[in-house]
This record gives sequence, structure tokens and C-alpha cells, in this order.
Amino acid sequence: MHSFRYRDGSLHCEDVELGALADAHGSPLYVYSAATIRDHYRRLDAALGELDHHIAYAVKANSNLAVLRLLAAEGADFDIVSGGELFRVTKAGGRAAGCTFAGVGKTREEIEYALREGIYCFNVESEAELRFIDRVAGELGERAPVAVRVNPNVDAGTHKYISTGKSENKFGVDFQDIEALYARAEAEMPNVALRGLQMHIGSQLTSVQPFVEAVEKVAPLAAGLKAKHGIEFFSIGGGIGIIYEDSLASGDRRWWEEGARGDARPLTVEEYASAVVPVLKPLDMKILFEPGRFIVGNAGVLISRVLYKKRGRAKTFAIVDAGMGDLIRPALYQGHHDIAPVKEPSGEAETVDIVGPICESGDFFAQDRVLPELAEGDLIALLSAGAYGFVMASNYNSRPFPAEVLVDGADAEVIRKRQSYDDLVAGEAV
Ligand SMILES: *Cc1c(COP(=O)(O)O)cnc(C)c1O
Repeated sequence: MHSFRYRDGSLHCEDVELGALADAHGSPLYVYSAATIRDHYRRLDAALGELDHHIAYAVKANSNLAVLRLLAAEGADFDIVSGGELFRVTKAGGRAAGCTFAGVGKTREEIEYALREGIYCFNVESEAELRFIDRVAGELGERAPVAVRVNPNVDAGTHKYISTGKSENKFGVDFQDIEALYARAEAEMPNVALRGLQMHIGSQLTSVQPFVEAVEKVAPLAAGLKAKHGIEFFSIGGGIGIIYEDSLASGDRRWWEEGARGDARPLTVEEYASAVVPVLKPLDMKILFEPGRFIVGNAGVLISRVLYKKRGRAKTFAIVDAGMGDLIRPALYQGHHDIAPVKEPSGEAETVDIVGPICESGDFFAQDRVLPELAEGDLIALLSAGAYGFVMASNYNSRPFPAEVLVDGADAEVIRKRQSYDDLVAGEAV
């Protein structure tokens, strides 16, 4: 479900007009739809209904406290990758006891913090880390619940920067080495409790095939570890892809993209569930899912204003007030974002580059894109910016972070204030 559509000539998020939000709160501005986030969570939860399952939302996709609060209220648990994310979850009212802690480089401070908070499980990415967790837990007189992340050596068929399930990726322990590692843990590491098995093969998967391949390969391993070591859960990670093209609500097919789109089809959760549930159900274990992008990706947009039009000899540029510091996906991994004018367009189309103000040639949102003719002062919406958007923002070029707004029906709340120049230098000394 997408809650961004044209109504009365202008783009709305649910019942709120985006132009009015930009006038009130300035630009660039992130806007999220609460209804979309809830809908995605509930649809996934319903599709997995046949399994004893938990949804651990991957906090790194969008970690705003209000977003976490909303998901906690839906019953979500959380997959975290740092102590800072654990802090956010508890601050937002989420349960530490529902947190799984992933990531290849957990520090002593993070491990101690997570043990004190009583998280559900450390998802461990190497033998060295497992031994270190055992040591730290022993020093604190605790027993650390652990699962090892298995690297199943399956090609997720996604961009190489967001592929994580091949042997050459830094993530997890090789499939062949898992059983021996659990045996060593049982024999030599008294301060860890073997609680589960985890995997995550990558992000933005748009076909169900790699999931099926990985689950079919790893399920027998999970069954064996359950029999031998009494593990209680198997986490199959996140990675459900979303549609970045054609991401306005249906019925709002845009005339300026004539012929260019129309075949984009999302991987639906129903399709995902009907492929993986039959393999997982016979395990009779608790199954964890760690979706991030699927829950929030299409639930957010980044609003930006056109500062200047520049007609060069080779190209026409629309220079906007958002940059790669606000949304880095295009620069980092050729991420595509559909762009829609906030005021419903009519008239001429043109081929433009949409670029930011940052002093880098990689600072663009679109190149040679056919868009309705934009004028200086016009607002645009970069669609599907709810995941891996604000969370990756940087202050590069000393540009303050944008504000974030959460829309719920006709209500719109600022859930993060725009940074000021003072915020920008907070903590620095001369
Ligand atoms: C990033 C990540 C996820 C979430 O991935 P999405 O593609 O956003 O669903 C889940 N699990 C782990 C371990 C991750 O690192």
C-alpha cells in the first residue's frame, strides 16, 4: 500500500498536502506515512500466520524514535546492529528482551550493554566474536544467548554492496563450518547459551528464488542443531525488495513516463510467504524475520525544492536543495528513486539531471530523466525514501540534517527537528 497520491492537483501523504508541509517546516524534508508502515507490518505478519514467528524490524532501515514506537505498538521486535540502536529501541518503548543483535564488529562496551539490558540473542558473525562474547559474559557472571549467522553461499542477485550471503562477503560463518563451531561452543564456551541459527543473504531481493534456495539449503542444518543443541529459533533475515520504479499509488500513472514503466511488479509478501512457509513449517521452531526496507521503504519521501535551472551545452540541470548528504542511495549504490513534482504537472516534459548542492559529481538523484518541466521554486518528491534514507544522512559540506515528519491520517507531527548551525558544531572545541 502506498499513501502518496495526487489529490486536487497536488501530492498528498494520506490526508496531508506535501506542499503545505514544506511551507511549514522547510525543505529538504522527510515525510513518512504511518498508515503505510502499519499496513506493511500487518500484511507480513498475516502472511506468516501459519508459523510460530516473530518480526524483528531491522532498525537500521529507519531508526527514528517515532517509527520505532509505532512498530513496537504493532507488536514488533527489533533487529539491531549497534549499542546506539539498542538505546533507541528502549528509548522508544521497545523491549530489549525482543532484540536480536547482528553485526560483524560488536565492541566490548556494546556486548556488556546488551547483556545488562537482557537482549534476546546475539547473532554472532565469527568464531573470534563468539569466544569474545563467552569471555565478556563470564566476566559479568552472565550467560549470553547466541545464534551464529550462517553464510549459505547463495547469490541474492542484488547490488554487490547489499549482497551478504556469498562466501566472499564478510558476513557470517561458512555453511560447512557451522556444526563444528556449535560443538566447540558447547564443549569450550560455558558462558554462551546456544539459542538459534541465523542467516541474511542480502537486501532488495526482487525475486523469491534466492530466499527459497537459501532456506532449503539451511533448514536441514537448523533441524540438526535443534536436535543436537536444543536451539529454539531459526532467523531467515530480511531482504524483501520493494518497488522503486512506479512507486506512486496505482491510478497515478504519470504521463511523462509514457512507455517507460508499467512492468514493475513488487515481490509480494504473500508470494514470499507461500514460498518459504512450507519449508519452514516442518521445522517446528520459532521463525524470525528481520525486514527493514519492506516495512518503511515505500512509506517515506524526501521533499526538495528546485533552487536553480541550469541549461548547459550538454545537459539541463535542476539543482535542488537536497543532496547526497540527505539521501545517499543513488551515489552509494546507483539506487533509483522516482521523482514526482508536488504540484500535479501538466504540459511539457524535458530531459534533466536532478542534482544536489554538494561539491561532488556523484551528488545527483537522477541523470537524463524525463520529467515534467520544473521551474525554480517548484517542489519535488523523491519517492521510496523511507528506508536507508535519513539514517545514512551526513553533515558533509556542513549541511544540517533535514527535519522528519510523520503523517497519520490528517495529522502531521515533526518527529525530528531540522538541525541548526549550533547543532552542527555541538561537541566541537576550538
Ligand atoms: C540490514 C539487515 C536486515 C534488513 O534488511 P532489509 O533489506 O532492509 O530487509 C536484516 N537482517 C540483517 C542482519 C541486516 O543486516
